[in-house]
Amino acid sequence: MNATRSLLIVGAGEFGLTAALELRRRGWAVTLVDAGTIPRDTAASTDISKVVRCDYGADEQHIALGEAALAGWHVWNRQWGAPLYHEDGFLVLAREAMKPGGFEHESLAKLTARGHRLERLDSSALRKNFPAWAAEKYPDGYFNPRGGWAESGKVIARLVAQAKAEGVIVRESVACVRMIESGSRVTGIVTPAGEELRAELVLVAAGAWTPTLLPELQPMMWATGQPVLHFQVDDPRAWQAPRFPVWAADIARTGWYGFPALADGTLKLANHGPGRRVPPDAPRDVLPEEIEKFRAFLRDSLPALADAPLRHTRLCLYCDTFDGAFWMDHHPQRPGLVVAAGDSGHAFKFAPVLGALIADVVEKKPNAFAARYAWREPKAKVAESARAK
Ligand SMILES: Cc1cc2nc3c(=O)[nH]c(=O)nc-3n(C[C@H](O)[C@H](O)[C@H](O)COP(=O)(O)OP(=O)(O)OC[C@H]3O[C@@H](n4cnc5c(N)ncnc54)[C@H](O)[C@@H]3O)c2cc1C
Repeated sequence: MNATRSLLIVGAGEFGLTAALELRRRGWAVTLVDAGTIPRDTAASTDISKVVRCDYGADEQHIALGEAALAGWHVWNRQWGAPLYHEDGFLVLAREAMKPGGFEHESLAKLTARGHRLERLDSSALRKNFPAWAAEKYPDGYFNPRGGWAESGKVIARLVAQAKAEGVIVRESVACVRMIESGSRVTGIVTPAGEELRAELVLVAAGAWTPTLLPELQPMMWATGQPVLHFQVDDPRAWQAPRFPVWAADIARTGWYGFPALADGTLKLANHGPGRRVPPDAPRDVLPEEIEKFRAFLRDSLPALADAPLRHTRLCLYCDTFDGAFWMDHHPQRPGLVVAAGDSGHAFKFAPVLGALIADVVEKKPNAFAARYAWREPKAKVAESARAK
């Protein structure tokens, strides 16, 4: 009879937790450590909302992964009872007529070819259906009813409870300070208290902290700070679907995207742009000039929000790879070590399917997506299709 295989996972965000659950279900003995309490407040996965879309320009692989994830979110919602994924639809706006090669045009074309039913919008349709927008600024775009947002922090809380219930050993406030190497093999980790935790394999899923823990990855990935702003609206219903769903405003050129208001009137805005490099443990302050950029966007495109009270700001970190693709592979020089990171600001939507992807990589099982995320040499920087350069 096969001995139970053991795995030690460093990092209990989306990557570490979904992998822990999947590998536990595949019979592994899994221990999961996180430097903070879970969900950790500075983790990328911990937020009030994340966009769930399969709109990926001409990138059919991520469209397919997005479609599979959408089905997974519905399964999770049924399992959880109270839905944490809200299929409010995704509003995609363009500041000029959509052109071939552009994110909006290619998303519309590819999704339509795959059978999605999208509604094309000009300024007058925008004004009629989504009245909050300065419609004259957005002469083209579309509405995709399949897509929306997930309450990411609550999803993480659900997943960690499930992991514990299914026998994953979860150790909170236990950091990994370094790997234990026996000969050339990684056989465990050392904690700040000097405790040694050992396993057959170690999976590092430490998000933006990954290149700090594994410096050899620094040419290929780094931590990028992205401001997130929460405004307060008086009448939340006026800022919710169907009149105000999740949106992207000329995102591939400007980075702007945002969410409907929560029941308490919190309305989140963010930018999927270049961001700025930030050491993961540095202060997470949003700068006044960054806040001013958000205000300028609101004055221009959502004038009714231009003076909305600012309720909260947060600097959240991407683990950016040079090509915007995730990083999932065994370490070529350090047997016993596996890495799953490199979210590049767009992985949360794939949570329902990510665990199986990482588990296939851990078990070296064939997976259609694994080749794209395999260990690779740094090349010229390219960004994910919706990312503003
Ligand atoms: C501003 C912002 C907006 C985003 N919006 C979206 C969106 O709309 N849609 C979408 O799909 N995706 C979005 N993303 C991306 C998404 O949040 C990430 O893809 C995902 O959360 C990454 O998960 P992770 O597990 O890799 O990292 P994290 O969630 O950061 O988890 C890493 C964990 O590792 C732990 N850790 C780190 N170092 C150590 C150590 N030494 N020892 C022990 N534990 C350690 C940390 O405590 C942390 O809990 C966004 C990200 C950001 C930053």
